[in-house]
Amino acid sequence: RRTHVRLPEWLKTEIPVGDNFARLKKDLRGLKLNTVCEEARCPNIGECWSGGDTGTATATIMLMGDECTRGCRFCSVKTNRQPAPLDPAEPLHTAEAISRWGLDYIVMTSVDRDDLPDGGAAHFAKTVQLIKQKAPHVLVECLTGDFRGDLASVEQVARSGLDVYAHNVETVENLSKYVRDRRATFRQSLSVLEHAKKVRPQLVTKTSMMLGLGETDEEVMDALKELRAISVDVVTFGQYMRPTKKHMKVHEYIHPDKFAHWACVAEHELGFKYVASGPLVRSSYKAGEFYIKNIVQ
Ligand code: SF4
Ligand code: SF4
Repeated sequence: RRTHVRLPEWLKTEIPVGDNFARLKKDLRGLKLNTVCEEARCPNIGECWSGGDTGTATATIMLMGDECTRGCRFCSVKTNRQPAPLDPAEPLHTAEAISRWGLDYIVMTSVDRDDLPDGGAAHFAKTVQLIKQKAPHVLVECLTGDFRGDLASVEQVARSGLDVYAHNVETVENLSKYVRDRRATFRQSLSVLEHAKKVRPQLVTKTSMMLGLGETDEEVMDALKELRAISVDVVTFGQYMRPTKKHMKVHEYIHPDKFAHWACVAEHELGFKYVASGPLVRSSYKAGEFYIKNIVQ
């Protein structure tokens, strides 16, 4: 009996490193920014930080601490119902660091802060405003939680001056309750994405799904149709990788051809503006490069 699913060849990769990478890494020292790229040892760091053909370097940073009020079964972030209070200097400090760093595209994400009345929306919004003041050329994507469905919080972030509003549905509706914290639902996530678009129709909206959790093709197709029906512009698919033995198991390593299939369906059949799909794709994978190539032009 097989108790362990072996890692397939396509997931054993060398981390490619480009020219910009060393410079950004050097600049990062002293800025005291916590990048998800480094902390999660993301395999895409060389490609993202180098900026690919368009030279649009992307990095992801985490705001509001490293302890989350939720506990999703796929996620390695620590859970704490009462995390440390917000650092009021973080928005300014982050904006200053980003303006010095020489990035073109920044993804800001955060832990979920259900302990705060606005879920941290004002903190997100302030950080975006300060980045846009200090470094107007930097494109900003916020990857937020669902703010417990509080649409006023979604609106505050959507109106902050950001370029891309991202919120991840993570998986298909049927698996949500096994995969995500029980406070998160597929419907609530749809309402976040729908509201961000309603408030500012020119905003690019984006979501991500992990594959390999046991979802069926029909469930993925239904999810894509629902996302397109509320005008979500960008979708990404990546393989679920189990962070530790305490986290939920990988149900299946999805073949790269299947990822290519979903990219094709989403883009050509359903009309998403852009799709990133592959075993190693993460929600922010080369986001800047793709923004420049697909959204601006
Ligand atoms: Fe960083 Fe996201 Fe790129 Fe990974 S995929 S290197 S976390 S920007
Ligand atoms: Fe991790 Fe986000 Fe879930 Fe918190 S809400 S446990 S940071 S996936």
